[in-house]
Amino acid sequence: MKRHLRLVVVLGLLGIALGVVAIGVSGPPAPPPVRVIVIDAGHGGEDPGAVGADGSKEKDITLAVARLVRMASLGDPTIQVVLTRDRDEFVELADRARIANQKGAVLFVSLHVNACSDPSVCGVETYVDSKQRDDSASSRLAAALQERVARVMGTRNRGVRSASLYITRAQMPAVLVEMGFITNYQERGALKNLSRQREIAAAVYEGIRSYLGDED
Ligand SMILES: [Zn+2]
Repeated sequence: MKRHLRLVVVLGLLGIALGVVAIGVSGPPAPPPVRVIVIDAGHGGEDPGAVGADGSKEKDITLAVARLVRMASLGDPTIQVVLTRDRDEFVELADRARIANQKGAVLFVSLHVNACSDPSVCGVETYVDSKQRDDSASSRLAAALQERVARVMGTRNRGVRSASLYITRAQMPAVLVEMGFITNYQERGALKNLSRQREIAAAVYEGIRSYLGDED
């Protein structure tokens, strides 16, 4: 009985020792990989994009929301948001996709604001390149963003659409979100309002996280 107990103690200590050695060899668990997300604030510099009746410019709204998406991401060390521009400057369309490719981004989200000659037209729409199939990664990302941004804007969900886009030069899933119409009085008010911009940015970020979670 006593010998048996001693054997158990010895084996137990051996187990602890091996455990300590194993931890010493492998070290702490490796941190999860960082995924680079590129947020592209449409237009900039000499290119104002769409302009509202009150003189507000698409380029300012897209930059504000892009920065807020980056801010929303700061709590997650596994996500790094890179902006194609972080100030009011002109960036060539080809360079926007090139930045995403060079950074090894896992997805590319371009932010824009719509315009229409009819001021009653409103709503959110998200574009994928017309070469993308409905079940492509870009289409799934577009659906995740469209649903959430349309919900926080609370106007009209114009759905996911396809067009020939510059973002197709990006070598990763890429979408373009038209966050609302600067030519519509109600949507312009929301797009210029900081707390609404935060809600839109949170919707974009949650859409990205949902997409990434589904892909894991
Ligand atoms: Zn635009």
